[in-house]
Amino acid sequence: MRRTSVAFLLVIAAACSSDPDVTVVEPVSTETTSTDGSEPVVTDGEPVDSVGEPSTTISDGDVPAVGGRDGVGDSFYPSMGNGGYFVDDYSLNLDVDVDGNELDATATISATASEELSTFHLDLHGLEVTSVGVDGQPATFDREADELIITPAEPIASESAFEVEVDYEGTPEPIADPGVPLDSVGWQNREGTVYVASEPSGAKSWFPSNNHPSDKATFTFVITADSDLTAVANGVREDLVDNGDGTTTTTWNMSDQMTTYLAAIYVGDFELRESTTDDGLRIRNYFPPAFADDLEDDFELTADVIDFYEELFGADYPFAEYGSIVLPFSTGFALENQTISVHGLDATDPYTIAHEIMHQWAGNSVTVAQWQDIWLLEGFATYLAYMYFEDRGLNSQIEPQGMYSALRSGFSIGPAEVPIDELFGLSVYFRGGMTLHALRVDVGDDAFQEIMAVYYERNAGERASTEEFQAIVEEIAGADALDVVNSWLFGLELPPFPE
Ligand SMILES: [Zn+2]
Repeated sequence: MRRTSVAFLLVIAAACSSDPDVTVVEPVSTETTSTDGSEPVVTDGEPVDSVGEPSTTISDGDVPAVGGRDGVGDSFYPSMGNGGYFVDDYSLNLDVDVDGNELDATATISATASEELSTFHLDLHGLEVTSVGVDGQPATFDREADELIITPAEPIASESAFEVEVDYEGTPEPIADPGVPLDSVGWQNREGTVYVASEPSGAKSWFPSNNHPSDKATFTFVITADSDLTAVANGVREDLVDNGDGTTTTTWNMSDQMTTYLAAIYVGDFELRESTTDDGLRIRNYFPPAFADDLEDDFELTADVIDFYEELFGADYPFAEYGSIVLPFSTGFALENQTISVHGLDATDPYTIAHEIMHQWAGNSVTVAQWQDIWLLEGFATYLAYMYFEDRGLNSQIEPQGMYSALRSGFSIGPAEVPIDELFGLSVYFRGGMTLHALRVDVGDDAFQEIMAVYYERNAGERASTEEFQAIVEEIAGADALDVVNSWLFGLELPPFPE
């Protein structure tokens, strides 16, 4: 995500500098984390990733012997996600009435139990659930706050696959998220356009899910809306059917793993503009018709930015297609929804475009296992977007000296230990970005690029942690380089500008 609104940035800076009593959150304890980036911890004969997964949170004996639980142990969001199962696939059938802001939907969720389940949770905010089935049998359900608690007719055996079907309807309500104090997240309906910007917790505003980045899954979106509107979602558009009743059903398939906060649909008046990279990757951008020609010029750098990151990471763009969608109004932000970043009409500058493309590698392919590690998304996108402009000899809107100046007049806590209300604050973006700059200055371009490539190779399609990044820095560049990284990641004291 990148906020471009000047007012927002000023508010952050003011809040930070005038708040000496801000709580310092200790770094997350990850006692079972493998820090060498090699094999995940093995529990009960099944390999599971070690951070944020339910299997690591059930050993304290104070949870029910049978049944899923609320939360996966995220230090910032204790009730985010659910224990006892992992989702393999979401198939979302969404009937969208944009004018009435009504959703009539069925979510079919394919999952695998990691223990025997007599009940289990999904995350869902508001909306009316009309029926729930598990493996074709009606199930009973309760609602408690933002939890949908399901009791199947028969307990689900550990290690077995199961399918949940949830019918629901109503008007989706955006979520008040403590990590995004000045805005709401999730489903939005504005000026005849539906769009989704969910990071971090907003997915529960529009579909039931295991709403935590530690559980990634594939997705299919089957969207029915008025035929004069265009329906866009993540992945590849597979089908477009005119229903003959004034509605069209559009099917999008995201066949690579995706975390729930990056799932998005957009329904409105958009015009498709297509191109390809030199390697033949399809770029499909959706623009408001009135601005399409100008926006096509703005986004022309997309292919070149993708080429740059493929070279930096030594790896192909992670997904089948890429594109951006621009809303017909200002939002003050852009967000890297997987394969289809969303930009407000006021957030189409070259730096922001590069930032959201960068996130397709850092954030989308390599997701964080805990929200405390968000600098691995935003610090990377901030600094590596700068590197694109530096490499191409172009003016960069954000550069190291400017980041450092902003940090000196702002809030200097280490980005790996920010409190929740600084999740999208200056430290995560700028001190996180300066962490990479300091590392690059210390080890040189070749070792820096090797660290980036190894970090990506080991975590592509999966999740990463600060500990894994630290271990790779030490492995490739040694203990002194790790000390440099740590001096930027932790502590209240801002290190000197790296020379
Ligand atoms: Zn970002």
